[in-house]
Amino acid sequence: MVYSQQHRSISILMLPWLAHGHISPFLELAKKLTHKRNNLHFYICSTPVNLTSIKPKLSEKYSHCIEFVELHLPHDELPELPPHYHTTNGLPPHLMSTLKKAFDMSSSNFSNVLQTLKPDLLIYDFLQPWAPSLALSHNIPAVEFCTINAATIISIFANHFKNSTLKFPFPGIHLPDYEIRMFKNQVEFSSNGLKDGDRIQQCSSSSCNIILAKTSREIEAKYIDYLSDLVGKKIVPVGPLVQDPLDQKTDEESPIIQWLNKREKSSVVYVSFGSEYFLSKEEIEEIAHGLELSKVSFIWVIRFPKEDKTTKVEEVLPKGFVERMGERGMIVEGWAPQAKILQHPSVGGFVSHCGWSSVLESIKFGVPIIALPMQLDQPVNAKLVEEVGVGVEARRAEGGGLQREAIAEAIGDVVVKKIGEGVRMKALEVRDNMKKIEDEEINDVLEQLEQLVQLCA
Ligand code: UDP
Repeated sequence: MVYSQQHRSISILMLPWLAHGHISPFLELAKKLTHKRNNLHFYICSTPVNLTSIKPKLSEKYSHCIEFVELHLPHDELPELPPHYHTTNGLPPHLMSTLKKAFDMSSSNFSNVLQTLKPDLLIYDFLQPWAPSLALSHNIPAVEFCTINAATIISIFANHFKNSTLKFPFPGIHLPDYEIRMFKNQVEFSSNGLKDGDRIQQCSSSSCNIILAKTSREIEAKYIDYLSDLVGKKIVPVGPLVQDPLDQKTDEESPIIQWLNKREKSSVVYVSFGSEYFLSKEEIEEIAHGLELSKVSFIWVIRFPKEDKTTKVEEVLPKGFVERMGERGMIVEGWAPQAKILQHPSVGGFVSHCGWSSVLESIKFGVPIIALPMQLDQPVNAKLVEEVGVGVEARRAEGGGLQREAIAEAIGDVVVKKIGEGVRMKALEVRDNMKKIEDEEINDVLEQLEQLVQLCA
């Protein structure tokens, strides 16, 4: 469909990393941008297993402007990674590096996709430096979309590069030694001969003029400005990009919603550690005791790796826990409609691993956070949550172990006690302020992308 010269049809190919927490924001960005302009056409490229779970999340109304394109990963060369593992969702942790390798090896298939679709623009994620190179070789401009926040990117640049003289200049984000070690291990994590830190750095340096980042100036203004200076490119915040709960097909009769409907306002904590982290038996035990001691009602999502078909949730919980909790707690095995739960008025706190999407979802719905970061960018996100004032991190033991008493105390403080009033108020204030600038931020994204496409046309 061709409109006027200024509003000619623009096709945009998106290539997110193969994780639910990445594909969702790419999809939400596409939805938000198509609301603003009817001349945009998006292709979202991912593996069949990811597309099968993401497709039902897209309502019919977008079918004319958002299409899905399959990316096939090699499987004969990597028999340990069958197609149902072409996603981080439920992936056994020891296969993460194989998944990154397989993703790299799909580059020639991706080149065919570029060749066939000939998009006006590629929007790519932060782990695949081959994607912008291929796009440029097809004369297609490429822009990075970082689904991590600016503070994390700065931390990666400061911690990863041995020759870097850059010191992380923000005292508000101070990681204890065990978290620095954990963070360094992650960015030094190597797959297919390339460290994650290098992937991230190469991806940002390949981005044309600007870098999109899933964040908001309401939360991260000083980090966004600092990072823009550091990389010499404008960091353009896209806002929280939370999936519209109306798009989540949970029927109102579902046991979770019914259970929540019976609870008092802001009385329940939602407990979840995202799509990639699997709690150890010891961690499950500590959290269970923490919840029990807190006396607060809860919904707790517990998941096991896909290959684990035998573990029963009752076996990993402390003896008699389910019986003792009775109606006070609901354990959900596998997957819960998170956005729908967080926006329910009965929810008054989120015990979270602080995956960045979870943090933004919690802020979007004004739910204060009890932070229990586990890996990756989560420790930085948790410090940011405290700095912004929308949550509290539960204290850990010296070496980093979870402590039931500290978990119970943090839950009590944030959800129930007078001491948490400031955090609860702040969560509402930041929610309102972020909402006020959301539209402005998306307009700026659109303007920047249109300028780039026009420039390269
Ligand atoms: N999520 C969900 N239900 C679950 C677990 C996760 O809907 O049971 C969604 C959650 O709402 C978020 C994403 O999966 O959008 C997880 O992303 P995040 O960055 O928080 O964590 P990750 O999974 O990357 O560790």
